[in-house]
Amino acid sequence: MIEQTERVDVGLRRGAMPLAMAERERSAHHGLPVHEVVPLVGTDVTTGLTGEVAARRLAELGPNALPEQRGPGWVRRLLAQFHNPLIYVLLGAAALTSALGEVVDASVVLAVVLVNALVGYLQEARAEKALDALVAMVRTEATVVRDGVATRIASDELVPGDVVVLEEGDQVPADLRVVAVRELRVDESALTGESQPVAKDPLPVPHDAVLADRTSMAYSGTLVTSGGGRGVVVGTGGDTEIGRVHRLVGSTRTVQTPLTRKLARFSMLLTWVILGLAVLSAVVGVLRGEPVAGMVTAAVALAVGAIPEGLPAAVTVTLAIGVSRMARRNAIIRRLPAVETLGSTTVICTDKTGTLTANAMTVRWVVADGVRHEVTGVGYTPTGPIHPEVGSAARECLLAGTACNDADVVERDGAWIAVGDPTEAALVVAARKAGLSTADVPARVDELAFTSQRRFMATRHTGGVVYLKGAVERIAEFTGDTDHTTADELAARGLRVLALAKAHLPEDTELTEEALRGHARPLGLVAMHDPPRPEAQAAVRACRDAGIEVRMITGDHRATARAIAAHFDLPDDAVHARVSPEEKLRLVEGLQADGHVVAMTGDGVNDAPALRRADIGVAMGRGGTEVAKQAADMVLTDDDFTTIRAAVEEGRAVFDNLRKFIIWTLPTNMAEGLVILTAILLGTALPILPVQVLWINMTTAVALGLTLAFEPREPDVMHRPPLPPSLPLLTGALLHRILLVSAVLLAGSFAAFHLADGTVDQARTLAVNVFVTAQIAYLFNCRSLHNLRPRVGLRANPWLPAGIALTAALQLLFTYAPFMNTLFHTAPIGWKDWALAAAIATVAYAVVEAEKWWRRNHAHRT
Ligand code: ATP
Repeated sequence: MIEQTERVDVGLRRGAMPLAMAERERSAHHGLPVHEVVPLVGTDVTTGLTGEVAARRLAELGPNALPEQRGPGWVRRLLAQFHNPLIYVLLGAAALTSALGEVVDASVVLAVVLVNALVGYLQEARAEKALDALVAMVRTEATVVRDGVATRIASDELVPGDVVVLEEGDQVPADLRVVAVRELRVDESALTGESQPVAKDPLPVPHDAVLADRTSMAYSGTLVTSGGGRGVVVGTGGDTEIGRVHRLVGSTRTVQTPLTRKLARFSMLLTWVILGLAVLSAVVGVLRGEPVAGMVTAAVALAVGAIPEGLPAAVTVTLAIGVSRMARRNAIIRRLPAVETLGSTTVICTDKTGTLTANAMTVRWVVADGVRHEVTGVGYTPTGPIHPEVGSAARECLLAGTACNDADVVERDGAWIAVGDPTEAALVVAARKAGLSTADVPARVDELAFTSQRRFMATRHTGGVVYLKGAVERIAEFTGDTDHTTADELAARGLRVLALAKAHLPEDTELTEEALRGHARPLGLVAMHDPPRPEAQAAVRACRDAGIEVRMITGDHRATARAIAAHFDLPDDAVHARVSPEEKLRLVEGLQADGHVVAMTGDGVNDAPALRRADIGVAMGRGGTEVAKQAADMVLTDDDFTTIRAAVEEGRAVFDNLRKFIIWTLPTNMAEGLVILTAILLGTALPILPVQVLWINMTTAVALGLTLAFEPREPDVMHRPPLPPSLPLLTGALLHRILLVSAVLLAGSFAAFHLADGTVDQARTLAVNVFVTAQIAYLFNCRSLHNLRPRVGLRANPWLPAGIALTAALQLLFTYAPFMNTLFHTAPIGWKDWALAAAIATVAYAVVEAEKWWRRNHAHRT
């Protein structure tokens, strides 16, 4: 069959020929007629490659995946960590300190800056890796003909010579020479920037045609917006047009979101304020007659202390953890900002079929010639009696149902499953229960395919007979049947009702909606049951408890939709039936105009605009098209409504954890700055030296603060209303708390410094330990923003005790290790000092809990 295989295989091997020649050969595909391209890639258009040849080519040429992008090297990425205004200030501080002759101090500052950069680099690298792994989880598939049979395989298994079948909604999986089309239109904007879909055709185009004009080719990464067709793979992986663009531009994954940008701006502002204060305090001190060198040191300490160095890394890590938690619950985030937005979602617009219901259709009734036949049996098992037994009218109705049908049912491991559209598979099952099969149907010669907009399907068979099936009111347009009483009554029971009809078209008349209008004869109705997903019921209720409105958007009949909605306690005005994709878009826009944050589900090509417009576009991983997935912010791998709820829950938890980290870290910085400012203004010795301040910031931000990113969600996250997206990260209440804790830390460290009896070094060591122990205590406060006593056990976050243990070990080193004493100007302290530190920490903890309690009661009263 494929005689040239061996020769061609050699020719295809990358690098087996001079580049210029390979170039010419590749660009030739669009200019050659199909019958010349086919032998070039050694294949057969009808039967495709054999599995054996395909496997050999795959082994030789590698998978059909874009080559791993070499991002900027690790040196550059590490250096990028220093590109941060906060770090500039620290470097400036190091330079100043060494200019003053304090070489040891300067080296410590530098060492800490270095460690900080390293930690930041490692954290970011890990977050990026986690995100990359997610991308791989959304597997793309392609339909390929091998050994004469069409099968679905993972796109990365495609090889040159494979014959690929394209359908509406597919992503073109490799560079294809188009060999057959059915009104095939492709959106090539990813490649050419042209937003209008391009019609494809097997006819060759001139050799010098530019990419956008090569209508005989379908390029990898572009999207089939309508129609379908077949193509022969002529390029895979890096050897595709998109592969070349990829090489040129390189992929730059950013882990930036509106929130991280907001925080970056905040840090910038903070830096300037801190610098201003530092300079001001130094000037005040010098004017008061203090030595210049001492004042510069103090100013440096202030700057170093007040800068929240750990903030950027903590945000990235928290977001990354949120993303992987969502993935574990079957929600794949495609765009990082979605993680933040999810927590603020106020409306979820969800599909009915497959998301709220199981999309497991079973025909319950067949109505023909005024007789209602009840169909028994379960699932897709094609057995079960029909009462009363079907007569000729019902028979013809069921025959039309299997004729006008692309699905089938097969038995696998003892269970019958649907292959293709469940609605159609249900019709196949019903027909088989009546003893009918596709063998009873004359061959199909033409069709009008089902689309969500068309809402019906028609097939023409040899002999001129045309079968129609679809939404009742659509079929009525062709039959003129205006009596919908039975259909409405069945729909009101929550059943999906389809009408069937038959027509005769002369051979020379084209199959169009116009030609059928008024020429069809009604055959009857079928009504099928699609059970609501039991777990979705609880999920809808949970969303409602969380202050999120749930709306059902469906292409189905209003009565059917309402009956299903009633199962979920959704009111009538939350049901949008017979909705077209354009209406979906308008619905999103309308809700957004009312200030809502909208999550919208979708699966078809035409849903893409609504998915893009929605604040959270949600695509179905199983039933959805590639187009919808590409447009979405989040993909549900199980198509289940419960997963949306889970994602919202995790989104809220992420937001909580970010706020927890921020309100934990800011008081430390603020208090450190204040301690030094106060010392200068009062003209007393510094209770904490610059290097010590830096030590506190660096060790606690990572060992203590970061553990908050791993906090599990609190049980009440879904019992509060969504936070408005315009809400600042820090509300008034949280700002008050930051000020309160800063004041406690300030008073505590000052008191400790002055109460200590011993050397200045010992007093400073104590002051530092007061700071750190109070931070540990405050960490427990921060495990819950509003609840007294965390509702989640400590065992749920093992990082937290581990972090505390690490901090304790570091503090002991800091206090007792001789080399640390030299580096950080510390000195060993006694048990009384530790007791004092513990007492201050306990007071700090109690003060914050009391503040929470007061605020709770206060809020209750108002
Ligand atoms: P959603 O998933 O948003 O709840 P849906 O799946 O119920 O929507 P569609 O699949 O767009 O909606 O179907 C819309 C209508 O088209 C159905 O109510 C039915 O009448 C008709 N229909 C559905 N599937 C087919 C089919 N395969 N052939 C003919 N008509 C169909």
